[in-house]
Amino acid sequence: MMPPVFRFAPSPNGPLHLGHARSALLNARAARRSRGRLLLRHEDIDTIRCTPALIEGVERDLARLGLAFERPARRQSEHFPAYRAALGRLVDEGLVYPSFLSRGEIRAHVRAMEEERGTLWRADPDGTPLAPTFERAMPAARREMLIAAGIAHVWRLDMDKAIERAGPLSIRSAATPEGQGVALVPARPQDWGDVVLARRETPTSYHLSVVVDDASQGVSHVVRGADLEAATSVHRLLQALLGLPDPVYHHHALLLGPDGRKLSKSTGAAALSRLFESGLDARAVAALAGVGPEPGEAPFP
Ligand code: GLU
Repeated sequence: MMPPVFRFAPSPNGPLHLGHARSALLNARAARRSRGRLLLRHEDIDTIRCTPALIEGVERDLARLGLAFERPARRQSEHFPAYRAALGRLVDEGLVYPSFLSRGEIRAHVRAMEEERGTLWRADPDGTPLAPTFERAMPAARREMLIAAGIAHVWRLDMDKAIERAGPLSIRSAATPEGQGVALVPARPQDWGDVVLARRETPTSYHLSVVVDDASQGVSHVVRGADLEAATSVHRLLQALLGLPDPVYHHHALLLGPDGRKLSKSTGAAALSRLFESGLDARAVAALAGVGPEPGEAPFP
């Protein structure tokens, strides 16, 4: 039997906070309990916001938490050719098309349609209005002309075609980080509409690179926050389209701030480095992250 493979995959576009500590600790504990492997992946496709100093800070915080990951850590910025190849496959299969609409143009279209129809335009699970789909039908010659003219564009998945190609899919959703109590949950990628899979300045996206990497790193168990649960439907669809295996997923409850909202860099959640510098040790930080040792378990970490 192959050992299970877990990974912690932060985006180093800001310092780690307690929510990250919770994910990292839950992955580490699950790997330890199930004698699995523990990988680290820096999701640094945004090469402007993800700086070497932030990556070093992430590694320092994880070491201070007492966590040891297999070396070397994977950096997504070193694997753009793999993401490009995956995108190319979907383009060749006619499942992805270039979209030239700016965000402002999308907003204007949505407003016009809402007025015309008197109903609200659908939004995705993150609250972003779904992209209009009329560019799916743009003649190839016009697409090529616009691309050759250097008009800015992104690459979108034709969600209807993709769902038709893949057929109904389910997600293996586990009750615990270790992967116990697996239930099959129907995937709902249609909730996301024509998602962006690549941009000009970043020739991939979170969705595409996470799926390519989980497969190439042999990840068997994805343990991450509940804020990414809805996105798993897109990941499951991409796995099916690209012929990749599907890991077991566990989405853990998020830590909430005093305002009841999820912790995030943008809401100024306390950085782990600040907690350590204020004198807390690894056990105290783990307790704040809600991942203390269980009765009868060796002190953690
Ligand atoms: N990089 C993502 C984040 O920091 C998490 C990716 C994942 O666990 O799938 O939110």
